[in-house]
Amino acid sequence: MRGMRRKTLRFLPAFVLFLLPLGCELLANFNVLSDEEEIELGKKFTAEIEKEKPPVQDPTLNWYAQDIGSRIAATALQDRPGIPYTFKVVADKTINAYALPGGPVYIHTGLLAAADNEYEVIGVLGHEIGHVVAKHGAKQISKQSGIQILLESALGKEGNEGAKTAGTLLGNFMLLSYSREDEFEADMLGVRYSVAAGYRPEGLMELFKKIQSAQGGTDPGAVERMLSTHPPTGERIARVQQWVAQNPLSPTLGIDRPIFQQIKARLPK
Ligand code: ZN
Repeated sequence: MRGMRRKTLRFLPAFVLFLLPLGCELLANFNVLSDEEEIELGKKFTAEIEKEKPPVQDPTLNWYAQDIGSRIAATALQDRPGIPYTFKVVADKTINAYALPGGPVYIHTGLLAAADNEYEVIGVLGHEIGHVVAKHGAKQISKQSGIQILLESALGKEGNEGAKTAGTLLGNFMLLSYSREDEFEADMLGVRYSVAAGYRPEGLMELFKKIQSAQGGTDPGAVERMLSTHPPTGERIARVQQWVAQNPLSPTLGIDRPIFQQIKARLPK
């Protein structure tokens, strides 16, 4: 899930030229970032994004985000070790969460409010982690023209200059959408990681259904931005259903801690 389009526009002005996608099928899997560079870039992105949109001040909410996030991130480390995932809550009523390359994950209060249980939250976090594991973001960044020069500037320079280029790369990253195939892959990984972490895997599907019904509901704005980049189409829901069916449901699955309702009660109104 992503789609901070409007909010990140201010990162952009002078850099539209860098947006030219190379548009070549061969480049779909092209990745110039090493793991170390991706992690470093994630840290720079965090600094830039939190200037615009700081996490909520409530330490309990951020503790919860890190706690539940770490449970699912631990299962993904088998597929891609060494990623320092961080999870924070931001005050935004849209139903959304997004991961930056290198492991920072942000959860909107709107997602926590819309979820009825921890399965639904974990399903979305699993999907986001799936994007990081499959390096979808890193590959997308790698497609920007002049990428080596931009990376050298963003990663090699401290202070204003490095931060400015990191802001450019972040703005570009936020503007581009993942492909349909990337979304399917992240959904599939999200289901797998949910099961591995001990959660029932239907959560992602349940949340998708809520988003679909909200489309025709009283507050379409709440889902508009997420739908623009992550439409939970009937096809996506059907595929998730299929993957859920393929994952044998062990009787030990079923974590849904009562603390989730206490966390929901703390959300800013
Ligand atoms: Zn996604």
